[in-house]
Amino acid sequence: MLLTISSTHSPATDLGYLLHKNPERVQSFNLSFGQARVYYPEASAERCTAALLLDVDSVALVRSKHGEARSLANYVNDRPYVASSFLSVAIAQVFGSALGGRCKANQELADTALPLVATLSAVPCKSGEGFLRSLFEPLGYEVATGNFPLDATFPEWGDSPYYSLKLTGTVRLSELLSHLYVLIPALDANKHYYIGDEEVEKLIRMGESWLPAHPERENIVRRYLKHRASLVRDALAQLIQEEALDPDEVAKTNAQEEAAIERKTSLHDQRLGAVLAVLKQSGAKRILDLGCGEGRLLALLLKDRQFTDILGMDVSYQVLEKAQDSLHFDRMPGMQLERIKLIQGSLIYRDARLSNYEAAAVVEVIEHLDPPRLAAFERSLFEFAHPGTVVVTTPNREYNPKFETLPAGEFRHKDHRFEWTRAEFEAWSASVCERFGYAVRFLPIGPEDPEVGAPSQMGVFEKAP
Ligand code: SAH
Repeated sequence: MLLTISSTHSPATDLGYLLHKNPERVQSFNLSFGQARVYYPEASAERCTAALLLDVDSVALVRSKHGEARSLANYVNDRPYVASSFLSVAIAQVFGSALGGRCKANQELADTALPLVATLSAVPCKSGEGFLRSLFEPLGYEVATGNFPLDATFPEWGDSPYYSLKLTGTVRLSELLSHLYVLIPALDANKHYYIGDEEVEKLIRMGESWLPAHPERENIVRRYLKHRASLVRDALAQLIQEEALDPDEVAKTNAQEEAAIERKTSLHDQRLGAVLAVLKQSGAKRILDLGCGEGRLLALLLKDRQFTDILGMDVSYQVLEKAQDSLHFDRMPGMQLERIKLIQGSLIYRDARLSNYEAAAVVEVIEHLDPPRLAAFERSLFEFAHPGTVVVTTPNREYNPKFETLPAGEFRHKDHRFEWTRAEFEAWSASVCERFGYAVRFLPIGPEDPEVGAPSQMGVFEKAP
């Protein structure tokens, strides 16, 4: 397997400093799976090419697999010839400083985008050339590929799923190496080592400057982590956070979309009515509305004098401003103003301001939380704030086919990270009760269908005495 990197930045031989490898000599490195050699087929002031030649020792690899059944395929396979996760390991070990963007001799050059060309002799890509392009072109490379016939003597067999690849771009050397480090293993269906949390950490570290904005982000993460669902979720959640979604924008467009889909049933009015009834019945005076949005529930709570202290919290500042407007904070009488407070905060952090309330409403909010963050939300609400009554509503996914305007398989709006069936909501609720000492009952919201249930579902959690 051969990777070459060429520079035409003058003097081109500075590539040797960036890679920390002297163009004058061949250097060898022993790696756990074979040998890596670095040499320069050309090194002039105008053009300099470094080559990384990997010799993967498949016989030694088989021997290192104790106890596994050995077959011919263990010995005779594509591993020595194609770019794979072995290449990423070699890049990290042989070009570690360059990958990290460090260069003692010339840091400025390491920080500069240079005219670079990378070639790979054989890249496995079963999804075809289009997929190869969709990975590298968004990163600013001009992509050229070549095919290999499966067997030159039988042209009718067609092409193999291997491509030669040439990437031309103006990028920092560290960027080029980090793109290869992540995307090559994402293209290859095999990975030679165990995929665990450490791989998520590496992926985030190598991809943090470019992966969050990559249009194929999800595909890349899934493939890099070999479809290990929990790791994929974890990595995507971290990457989405890096992308720093503007919570104001998300709240705005989503409220509009969901309202349009659910309009026919005026479902939201029914939902708020049901939540209000439960809160009233609980006898609670001090109420939290978590993820309060534009304040529709807050308006209903204010109308009822049973509720003496009302705290609305949302992660979006803009939405809170809207709530202030629609509740007419500017002309609210003093007595009324004393009953209500709005604060900005996120449900996934423990927050002392949420202590000492008797009941909490979490209306159509949990489905906006990334699944890996649900555990943090559960603790911050049920363990730390620990109100006597908690009312949680969330869509019932089983009902979605009944919404005519909702395309099959889609969520009710873009920012929903999941939508649960009744059984899924009930299982989650049961586990919350068990861990935090609550009992739960469930109520449907909206017209009930005999098969798929009601459009929305509500869980009423009461603290065990
Ligand atoms: N409860 C309101 C709004 C539901 S929309 C209603 O029923 O009308 C979901 C709301 O949750 C949005 O306003 C969004 O900004 C908020 N939200 C999303 N993630 C949050 C988080 N981590 N902490 C607090 N609020 C959040």
